[in-house]
Amino acid sequence: MEKKLQNQVAIVTGASSGIGAGTALELAKAGAVVIVNYPFAGSKDAADVIVSEIRADGGNAQSYQCDVSKEPEVEKMFADTVTQWGTVDILINNAGIQKDAPFTSMSLEAWNQVLAVNLNGQFLCAREAIKEFLRRGVHPERSVAAGKIICMSSVHEVIPWSGHANYAASKGGIMMMMKTIAQEFAGKKVRVNSIAPGAIKTPLNHAAWETPEALQSLMNLIPYKRIGDVSDIGKAAVWLASDDSDYVTGATLFVDGGMTLYPGFEDNG
Ligand code: NDP
Repeated sequence: MEKKLQNQVAIVTGASSGIGAGTALELAKAGAVVIVNYPFAGSKDAADVIVSEIRADGGNAQSYQCDVSKEPEVEKMFADTVTQWGTVDILINNAGIQKDAPFTSMSLEAWNQVLAVNLNGQFLCAREAIKEFLRRGVHPERSVAAGKIICMSSVHEVIPWSGHANYAASKGGIMMMMKTIAQEFAGKKVRVNSIAPGAIKTPLNHAAWETPEALQSLMNLIPYKRIGDVSDIGKAAVWLASDDSDYVTGATLFVDGGMTLYPGFEDNG
């Protein structure tokens, strides 16, 4: 049977860990060639583990070092990918960090670092991806769209989060960037959507699940009463990247076990 993303080329940023790694694996299972991006030399081994896993499963992947907040590095990653694999069909704009602090003691450095990776990084990668989608145009044997971008947002694009102003601002920014470029390029058959994960078990939020007490407390925020797995996000990403979702653009898909359903009102408020 033809796989949904057969021979399409996907760049997954921040794929050496967590959601990015899980999404890389799901995209590869769906037939995509996956560029497993990692930021620094120290994370190459982790990225290579994902590449090996994909290859062992019969898929095709390559690790690639690039700090998404650095314009020349992003430009080079896209140029090298096009040289090596012919084009880019799918961008999973996933790389993200947290630098938490109470607002009055949040340093400008912590604010800038989070915005640089979470928002500037998504801007730089989306810009290069769209340039390539427009250059190549639609090839129906690949996909009925010229290209697909999936921005990894968060429930915190809509839920305010004390102590995380930089992170929440970056995710709110992603929401409007995503919708704006979806509007700007829909006529060119480029689809741009976001996934807003709730609590997914990754190193980023380990404090929220690593003790039984923390996990129990987390369940107060999740009507579906389980923490998310990276494959929950990866499977949603495959759908948004495939032609099955061809009429979907400018949307945020919340994959959150109901976290955005105001769980405080579960017992009549
Ligand atoms: P992880 O910390 O597990 O993974 C983050 C990935 O991004 C790592 O591979 C990291 O590399 C990479 N990265 C960090 N900085 C850069 C950079 N400058 N350039 C390229 N890659 C970089 O986090 P998650 O998997 O949990 O998070 C992934 C995305 O999902 C983020 O955007 C996050 O905001 C979002 N998200 C996560 C949720 C969760 O519950 N986990 C909930 C909602 C949203 P390295 O490990 O080498 O530093």
